[in-house]
Amino acid sequence: MTRAPGIHLEVFGSAPHGVWSAPGRVNLIGEHTDYNDGLVLPIALPQRTYAACSPRDDGLLRVHSAQAGATVEVDLASVGPGSPAGWTAYVAGVLWALAQDGHDVRGMDVTVDSEVPVGAGLSSSAALECAVGAAASDLFGLGLLADDASRARLATACVRAENDVAGAPTGGMDQSASLLCRADHALLLDCRTGATEHVSFVLGAGPGADAGHGHVLLVTDTRAEHALNDGQYAQRVASCESAAAELGVSSLRDVDPTGLEGSLAVLSDDVLRRRARHVVTEIARVRAAVAALRQHDLVEVGRLFDASHASLRDDYEVSCDELDVSVEAARAAGALGARMTGGGFGGSSIALLPADAVADAERAIAAAFAERGWRAPASFAVTAGDSAHRDA
Ligand code: ADP
Ligand code: MG
Repeated sequence: MTRAPGIHLEVFGSAPHGVWSAPGRVNLIGEHTDYNDGLVLPIALPQRTYAACSPRDDGLLRVHSAQAGATVEVDLASVGPGSPAGWTAYVAGVLWALAQDGHDVRGMDVTVDSEVPVGAGLSSSAALECAVGAAASDLFGLGLLADDASRARLATACVRAENDVAGAPTGGMDQSASLLCRADHALLLDCRTGATEHVSFVLGAGPGADAGHGHVLLVTDTRAEHALNDGQYAQRVASCESAAAELGVSSLRDVDPTGLEGSLAVLSDDVLRRRARHVVTEIARVRAAVAALRQHDLVEVGRLFDASHASLRDDYEVSCDELDVSVEAARAAGALGARMTGGGFGGSSIALLPADAVADAERAIAAAFAERGWRAPASFAVTAGDSAHRDA
């Protein structure tokens, strides 16, 4: 996945002013916790979205995407909630949000090319927003890449582009990961306070390595699409709000994991109890995973991955057959642990594997899908990549 995108050469017939890129992300653990004021632990992917850009003096955005196979012109004065429709909302929305924040933003010529699988739960949307946001910051002198506090403000603008203009509900994890992650580190993000910590995430060497062979994080894009996705997400958010209200707390973050079953007994129905159990135990698993990573205890990290998957499948009910099968096949091939990642109902899974079991796991996952007549999945090993920056 180190394809050099062919965008460095020109933007609309002339050399670009510069090229900026931002990574996709994969969440190691902490799923469906972001809208509960919880904790998440993403890494930036080595796969990035590139934007070759030049500033314009007028209010026109011209944007071409190799993935969309289209060139679109957008008058920035016409951008707002729901407009433009389609993929250009993710680009125009960023300029709109920055202008709303009082920044002097004008038009741009933008050519986009990406290595991040689109719609696989690996956050191609945030990679696109953050690449464009990084470009706008530099081209218009906004200084939003200067330090983590500025980057966090840019992340907020990118979230508003996605929520308000593209109309896609999303917490802030994706944009924070794309703008704040560091190479070889996972990002512990507290979604209540915005506080971050960088946790070393190097599997190839060090005391956690298996007799010098090391471990690998294998991502599998199941390429499954289930139409259930949208309504189910909103329902889960609503269930969490109801459970928190019945428990008398402002969010499920405030529920103590010790004595949890006793606390949950007061909830009015079993569905709410299971939804709340997932969120509270998942937040505890993020803390445990950070501690385990710091101790290089990959066996424990794997155990936590497995527990997270079971909780998402049984209590939160957001998994699907393709995710379950990919996880089970990876485990049977020797994974220390595996789990679905992202919102669920399709998207991707991750498996923590001894390096010498990776090829077997990829084959086993592909065979399990073929046996069931499903589309071939795409598996690839990843390391923790770097945040958004200028490339050229
Ligand atoms: P994910 O972020 O998990 O990949 P989303 O549904 O959040 O999935 O975002 C995918 C959408 O983002 C695409 O349907 C498209 O509108 C937009 N998008 C992402 N990357 C690109 C790209 N390189 N070119 C054009 N549009 C893109
Ligand atoms: Mg997305």
